[in-house]
Amino acid sequence: MMKKATHQQTKEHNRHLVLSTVFQHECISRAEIARITSLTRTTVSDIIADLIEEGLVSEVGVGSSLGGKSPILLSLVEDSRYLIGLDLAQNQFRGAIVNLRGKIKTMIAIPANDHEGQEPLTKVYEIVDRLIEASSQPVVGISIGTPGLVNTSEGVVVNAVNLDWENLPLARILQDRYHLLVYVYNDSQAAAMGEYTYGKDHKSEDNLVVINVGHGIGAGIILNGGLFQGDGGGAGEIGHVVVVPEGGLRCRCGHYGCLETVASVQALVRRFQTCTNQTMNTSFTQSPREINLDAIEKAFNANDPLAQQLVQDAGRYMGMAIASLVGTLNINRIVLVGEMTRFGKPWLDTIQETMIRMSLSRLAHDARVEIGKLEKNAIILGVSALLTNNYSLLFNR
Ligand SMILES: [Zn+2]
Repeated sequence: MMKKATHQQTKEHNRHLVLSTVFQHECISRAEIARITSLTRTTVSDIIADLIEEGLVSEVGVGSSLGGKSPILLSLVEDSRYLIGLDLAQNQFRGAIVNLRGKIKTMIAIPANDHEGQEPLTKVYEIVDRLIEASSQPVVGISIGTPGLVNTSEGVVVNAVNLDWENLPLARILQDRYHLLVYVYNDSQAAAMGEYTYGKDHKSEDNLVVINVGHGIGAGIILNGGLFQGDGGGAGEIGHVVVVPEGGLRCRCGHYGCLETVASVQALVRRFQTCTNQTMNTSFTQSPREINLDAIEKAFNANDPLAQQLVQDAGRYMGMAIASLVGTLNINRIVLVGEMTRFGKPWLDTIQETMIRMSLSRLAHDARVEIGKLEKNAIILGVSALLTNNYSLLFNR
């Protein structure tokens, strides 16, 4: 038998409705909120009175009237509360104080290299401690993007090879330490939400795939405006789909010939090292050990034939992977983020051409591949956006 909602539950639900409506509009009148939420004018006015008292909402001016009294406009006070967003997916751990509209107020970064066991967690503490200390407003929650497989509903990092984390209950650990709401997301899924929410152009579209092509490769999928995480939280883990069925290189996951072994930054550097060893057609004179992504980028921009060739090869494999996503999901906009985007248009063109060649032409015709707009901030902004979706938890009294 269905239990009747208690008075308290109804109140919380109404508050949630009003708050989310205010969030979704630059400014809005009480009457408009009542119309959108189907709540009575009195209920809306009471809730707004509470929100104004809590400093979350303020009256910002007078709107135009269609006859009768001009309505007072309300707006979210974007600097009334702050969030902490963390990005553990780069060479540096980055953390930021972000306001309720996704504006970054303070950012800090600390090197993340050479860590084992407890070490990455200690660095997370250090960043959060410093940010809370620096925050001029109450911090209402912490949201984290980490590489690896994540169970968001449990707040557990199931497996993050680079950080040496396995079944780490990261959300609970941080909740115990900071007594704040904590959420944990996969880095590529977070980047997808960041580009969807703050990457402007996509706002009109409900579906989006964002592919993070860096040291590893992962995708984030937004369906009907929400993050799609799959049955086990691993939706978008395309980096470990085998694309070289025979003779492929060994991947860090233990298999051979994964997409990551041919299309990632790591793969590009490794191939470059092997090829310059064999004195192929290249202007490159450094010893293989000195080769890194910056050096390859420089050679690429100087039209070094080997650099051009290898970047194209990497792009072709990405195009193949995107073709299967286009075929599976029929999503028109695919956004690329991460370190490989530094190879810009030539890399992008190869990807687009391959995608078109390997997809059903009716689907490929409308599909566009482009480079993301948020650059390094996609993950931090994404986790912040995901956190603010939990209005009722973040702003309960
Ligand atoms: Zn793999």
